[in-house]
Amino acid sequence: MPVFSRLAVAVQLFSIIFTPALAAATAKDYDYVIVGGGVTGLVVANRLTEDKRVSVLVIESGESVDSPGNMIPYKANDLTSANGLMWDDLTSLPEPGLGNSTYNVLVAKVLGGGSVVNGMVYDRGSAADYDAWEALGNNGWGWAGMEPYFKKGTTFQPPSAAVAEAFNITWDPETYGSGPLAVSITDTQYPDIKDYWAAWKATGVHVPEDGNNGEAYGPSWYANTMDKKTGRRAHARYAYIDPISQRTNLNILTKTTAQRIIFGSGKKKLTATGVEITDDTTGKTSIVNAKKEVVLAAGAIQTPKLLQLSGVGPRSVLKAAGVKVKVELDAVGSNFQDHPYATVVFNTTPVHYPSPNLLMTNATFNASAWAQYEANKTGPYTYARGNALAFISLPDMTSNVSSVVASLNSQQDASYLPSFYKGNKKLLKGFAAQKKIIAGLFQRKDAAVAEFPVPADGTYGLVGVEKPLSRGFVHINAKNPTGSPDIIHNAFVNPVDRTVMAIGLRFFRTVWARPELKEYKISETVPGAQYTSDEDIYSALLAQASLSPTLAHPSGSCPMMPESAGGCVSDKLLVYGTKHLSVVDASIIPIIPSCHLQATAYGIGEKAAAVIKNRA
Ligand SMILES: Cc1cc2nc3c(=O)[nH]c(=O)nc-3n(C[C@H](O)[C@H](O)[C@H](O)COP(=O)(O)OP(=O)(O)OC[C@H]3O[C@@H](n4cnc5c(N)ncnc54)[C@H](O)[C@@H]3O)c2cc1C
Repeated sequence: MPVFSRLAVAVQLFSIIFTPALAAATAKDYDYVIVGGGVTGLVVANRLTEDKRVSVLVIESGESVDSPGNMIPYKANDLTSANGLMWDDLTSLPEPGLGNSTYNVLVAKVLGGGSVVNGMVYDRGSAADYDAWEALGNNGWGWAGMEPYFKKGTTFQPPSAAVAEAFNITWDPETYGSGPLAVSITDTQYPDIKDYWAAWKATGVHVPEDGNNGEAYGPSWYANTMDKKTGRRAHARYAYIDPISQRTNLNILTKTTAQRIIFGSGKKKLTATGVEITDDTTGKTSIVNAKKEVVLAAGAIQTPKLLQLSGVGPRSVLKAAGVKVKVELDAVGSNFQDHPYATVVFNTTPVHYPSPNLLMTNATFNASAWAQYEANKTGPYTYARGNALAFISLPDMTSNVSSVVASLNSQQDASYLPSFYKGNKKLLKGFAAQKKIIAGLFQRKDAAVAEFPVPADGTYGLVGVEKPLSRGFVHINAKNPTGSPDIIHNAFVNPVDRTVMAIGLRFFRTVWARPELKEYKISETVPGAQYTSDEDIYSALLAQASLSPTLAHPSGSCPMMPESAGGCVSDKLLVYGTKHLSVVDASIIPIIPSCHLQATAYGIGEKAAAVIKNRA
């Protein structure tokens, strides 16, 4: 039987077992209204309603969905499983650093947000990544302030002792707790990975016991957001909402979209009092009131859009769109970041049996793997995109660190930034502070600047630029303010980002050329080994359409920084110039950490809930 019809049988089974009981919203008044039922929104909703006296409403545009595509870990390899679960109208403006091509902006629209459709890697940044946030003036947001919340949210489920020994899998139990989110390393590992690991280790870079303990530099094993007890993806709804469906003080409205924030009149400081919402089935619009706070958790694209539609944002952008300015705040929609990357393709020969591609090429292997999954939720179908990644520092990749830093320091800050930064003292001050910190990180061995695979099949390679200097923006469209906003990454516009990418690719080639991988007969097809200089590598990758502005990590567009340095929210997460209005999602990230973003988003959610509880 082909895989898909087998999966169809499974849907029924899963939906009977796992359909969550969502309470319908009956009231109009709540203590907190949370906009966005994604990763951060659902963590905050759970924690706030631990107190029975506190009432919370979550507004989510997407639906609650349980399908094989978002439950079976192996399906995380196939982004088409996200069809129908994404904001499908989001496209970037032409990207000047990428030949003026436009790109889909990948954002989930489903209860649970990105955690329902993502690649399932659970990896935190290094201590240096979060300490950089604190150095920008955000008290308590360094590693020491974040780690307790990372721990609080997670429970680690290790591989079996036999698998751990066979594959030399290590982890640090101290950096996980007994929290709602199960993160695990499957017992299905493929033997070729041992040689790829050997090659990485032989480079001499630091190999942490567990990159999640603040040492995300060097190759490391990383967990996936999978609950081994059920063999399924553990996402934000599964972990934080399904187990508390009996709480009557938590209401969730799905297929409902927040249109704008309602502010009270006559007060000195603009005070958020509620949210205008539309029922997406009936088209009916109404207002829900928030007695204590409106909490924005709509993600790095929709949160700045909602603020701007509500009159909080850059004056010129609001005026052009015909929106009355209530608080002039240029930071809203500025500082937009993601991880740009280069795709690198190799010819390789798998050496050991089995290899991950057998699920697609060998019907017998596939059938037995599926039977194993159906019977006991183990086996190849629990293997998502693998459990190992390498995040590497600049000094580990080049002896030329000082020239990269010198070239960064010699730049006029405004040269490569969006035009509205020019002459804007606050935004420029904030970027200058970020640039100084990033220049410092470039010189450290305990802070990564590039990401690479540690694969069980080395065909596909990736060089991710983890500390980009280029900055984009998210602004409502003047002609269609309620439609897709103007989004631009400006990926690779800053030449230092191109340099880091090229250094990364040259280093990557040295790893794949190591004797430990001789049997794999690796040869590079994209971009091609003949391209070696910074310029040739960039031009060849551009010509081969192998550069991308996004690893689906949109962030930074409502940055947590001092207001005088281009901040949108304070370290208490309150939007400057307003009262009772906070942001808790990935848009608050001031400098993108060198890791995939969901672990950070879960950590931000946990910490944000504590911050909000404290002020109550
Ligand atoms: C395809 C894809 C692959 C990824 N892969 C990985 C990975 O392998 N590892 C990793 O660590 N990270 C990955 N990520 C990133 C990670 O999932 C996100 O960083 C994380 O989900 C961000 O959390 P958030 O709470 O800020 O936003 P989200 O989780 O995106 O939640 C925002 C929610 O708000 C809702 N919303 C928006 N606007 C409105 C509105 N006006 N009214 C009502 N609701 C609204 C959205 O529908 C969404 O559900 C991936 C993301 C995507 C999309």
